[in-house]
Amino acid sequence: MTVITRFAPSPTGGLHIGSARTALFNYLFARHHGGIYKLRIEDTDKKRSTAEATHSLLDGLAWLGVAHDGEPIFQSSREARHREVAEELVTRGQAYFCYTTAEELKSQREAAEAKGEQFKYDRRWRDTSETPPAGVQPSIRIKAPLTGEVVVRDAVQGDVVFAADALDDFIILRSDGTPTYMHAVVVDDHDMGVTHIIRGDDHLNNAGRQSVIYTAMGWELPVFAHIPLIHGADGAKLSKRHGATSTTEYAAMGYLPEAMRNYLARLGWGHGDDEIFSDTQAIEWFTLEHIGKAPARLDYAKLNHVNAHYLRATPAAELATLMGMDTKHAAAIESVKSKASTLVELKAQLEFYITAPIAYDEKASAMLAKNGVNIPLILPALEALVEPWSAQNVKAAINDIATATGKKIGELMPPLRAAIVGAMSGPDIPDAMAILGKAESIKRLKTALNA
Ligand code: GLU
Repeated sequence: MTVITRFAPSPTGGLHIGSARTALFNYLFARHHGGIYKLRIEDTDKKRSTAEATHSLLDGLAWLGVAHDGEPIFQSSREARHREVAEELVTRGQAYFCYTTAEELKSQREAAEAKGEQFKYDRRWRDTSETPPAGVQPSIRIKAPLTGEVVVRDAVQGDVVFAADALDDFIILRSDGTPTYMHAVVVDDHDMGVTHIIRGDDHLNNAGRQSVIYTAMGWELPVFAHIPLIHGADGAKLSKRHGATSTTEYAAMGYLPEAMRNYLARLGWGHGDDEIFSDTQAIEWFTLEHIGKAPARLDYAKLNHVNAHYLRATPAAELATLMGMDTKHAAAIESVKSKASTLVELKAQLEFYITAPIAYDEKASAMLAKNGVNIPLILPALEALVEPWSAQNVKAAINDIATATGKKIGELMPPLRAAIVGAMSGPDIPDAMAILGKAESIKRLKTALNA
């Protein structure tokens, strides 16, 4: 059996981080089994689906680097097939035409609610020989089981039991001939040969209803794996108030796609304590058994840690391109890349190389006030340094001054840092000076003396 998975987003917005993880899990699982991972755009809800959202989903997936096999399937293009299956279910005696109108349903619902009861369609047209009313376009409803239970054997949640009386004869084809979401998903998953459905556990209830359709058609059920949703640090379901929710936002915040893949794989799934692993390892290790039952919490500190790892591992010239900078800044990037967690931080760390005059932050100003007097001790040696102006030679010159004056390196280097960077963090100062060049370094030291 070839494993076939799918990711089936509704194009109503960008790629949500939870959906990105769903896509990734389906991708990893398919690859693990040498199977096929498909993409289906669920654009049947014409009011909510937009072409723009489809593009941003596709962009989000391309950025994340989770490539689907074959062309994406647009659910809307399959309406005729959805209708055909609904009609076949009627022919098989597994579904029926329902002539109760929307207005009637509405008043029945209101009456039930007025009595404090939960509304359930009364199955009036299920088994009747009554003549249908003239002029009413019927919907098609599935015949859900009247007794017993429907059991969803879920690879993550275990057996999930739905008592028959909790299910209703839900509509599969609306009176206007359009399929409902519940029905379209089943028909598409079947026709696409989907063997495993990995998705958020907000769809667990749907699995009960969808199983009814599979059984009614005599189709083999796929393996369901409903994964707990991602929560924020406070344990509540991830939402806007926790910060970024779409991959576009994560990209803008300076996270690398490979770091996102690595981090998202760890959200709800794990391979022992392994924090950092390659795509190849994730594919090799990914199984449904190790998906957790408890919701994973999005933890920015961990994400930053993973991202910092991938920043360090990425060549500086590539980072320059990713930040839209000239590769001539590669050396500067190299000098600070181990100090940043995101591309945004990295760019901020590079600021002092590019911007002059620099501004001194509070700590740098305090340092200049305290140890700025040491700068004139070093200046002449640096000015006298002829060839070559390298980090090594700059460092040697400073060391010589330390020896000659009896000053500690800890007294000489910090004021230089304040003068060169304008802050007390950043790269090694000899490195920074080598990259800035002699003229600019000396200019900054002199400017600091007059600050
Ligand atoms: N289109 C649904 C969604 O975006 C997913 C359907 C499914 O995975 O079965 O939530």
